Amino acid sequence: MKLTIRARLTLLYFVVLAASFLAFFWICDFGFRHSIEATVNDASQSNLDIVRRVVKNSLPQGVPKVKKELTELSELWANGAIFEVAGPDGEWIFRSPRFLLPQSPLPLPPASGVAFRTTNLDLQQYRIAQQSVSLDGQNFRINVAVPTEPFDQALDNFRVIEKRFLPLLVVLASLLGYWLSGRALAPVNRIIESAEKIGVQNLSQRLPVPKAEDELRRLTETVNAMLGRIESSVHRIQRFTADASHDLRTPLSLIRTNAELALRRPRTEAEYRETLERILGASEETTQLIESLLILARADVGAAQLQFGPIELTPLLHKAAQKAALLALQKGIVFSENIVPQPLPMFADAVATERLLLALLDNAVKYTPASGRVQLRSFAEGEFAVVEIEDTGIGICEDDLPRIWDRFFRADQARCREVPGSGLGLSIARWVVEAHKGAIEVSSRLGQGSLFRLRLPLLISAHARIDESEGQQQSTTAAA
Ligand code: ADP
Repeated sequence: MKLTIRARLTLLYFVVLAASFLAFFWICDFGFRHSIEATVNDASQSNLDIVRRVVKNSLPQGVPKVKKELTELSELWANGAIFEVAGPDGEWIFRSPRFLLPQSPLPLPPASGVAFRTTNLDLQQYRIAQQSVSLDGQNFRINVAVPTEPFDQALDNFRVIEKRFLPLLVVLASLLGYWLSGRALAPVNRIIESAEKIGVQNLSQRLPVPKAEDELRRLTETVNAMLGRIESSVHRIQRFTADASHDLRTPLSLIRTNAELALRRPRTEAEYRETLERILGASEETTQLIESLLILARADVGAAQLQFGPIELTPLLHKAAQKAALLALQKGIVFSENIVPQPLPMFADAVATERLLLALLDNAVKYTPASGRVQLRSFAEGEFAVVEIEDTGIGICEDDLPRIWDRFFRADQARCREVPGSGLGLSIARWVVEAHKGAIEVSSRLGQGSLFRLRLPLLISAHARIDESEGQQQSTTAAA
């Protein structure tokens, strides 16, 4: 059964209130009954005391006197109280008329103390107090009866009120509960209405924050913070898509323009060859860009698979150094390496690690003018393998330093010098480093050069860290 919170709260109010009112009235009823009984007992006890005193006072003048006094007393009592007194021989000295017609004979009073019982005399209910008294050495039995009707009437009146008011009270209180829960839940409805209006088009909108410092305020603030995160993610994706399309358009239009120009009129073989080489260069650039985009897109959705396994870093460093040396030679840059000949075992993805080293070395060569220097150093430091790539290139200004890891970011110096690149290399580098639980940092001075420093966990610690966070898998999915 589907019930709204408001309906459920009201139902709960109803049940709790009905139970509470029932308990309350039952306690009142119980207390009232007991207090009535005590009052009636007191009344019959005091009447019994009066009768006993009359008997005691008139006894010295003989039984007829007692009889006379008791008769006078019974006439005096107009409140319906009646009594009977039996003498030592068991014969009744005095009996009020109603006692002559008992529905059932009364038992004898106890040897000591006063006994109380409720019985019907002539169809009317009485509370009877019975006592055996010894006066001047003679035993008398006294029964005094007080009608309970006035008291029963009071109790009945109370019960009538109970029966009429109990349901009314419960219904009224439940209606109040319904109204109160409606008021309490009104901010929730406002939140729902506002949330329904928020979509991708207006992600900058936020839910109205209630004034009261309560759970709803915390909920709204949490949802608003979540909207903020979603908004920046969507913006990032939108920027990424726009930048990617823009960067893809450049080499593609280069390919098209070259092909169109070549086809305008017949060319020599050398001209065709030159055009085709340009087209090949542009399509290689496109392929590289698409590959980088694919890596990052897969990393974003957690689908990029890294094949972790035990590898040795030193041979990878030598391999990367060889390629970098060739690039440096082509550009007239002095390349030197200082790879400490010691094993650097790692638990890592060999392909991704090589790509990481090459990206940093490629940048160092790319952003260092001819006759500059690039140096590659590596050594072990505690539980880490440290790789340093230093160049005497154009450097990065302080403001740009935190942004070089952003996708598609390229510093103005890089753009002005028309150094080829997409601005994705360092984003991928950082993702690879983080997936390996390592760290990458940079220090640079504009116009003087840069130093990129990698810290990658060695086998024992790397194993432990990757196992810790990703279980015993041999491959993992990681996002930068
Ligand atoms: P790109 O394809 O432009 O090289 P990267 O992500 O590799 O993209 O680098 C981002 C930006 O960081 C570069 O455009 C450049 O401005 C700056 N940069 C990276 N490495 C260096 C370096 N060694 N020297 C100077 N600037 C660098």
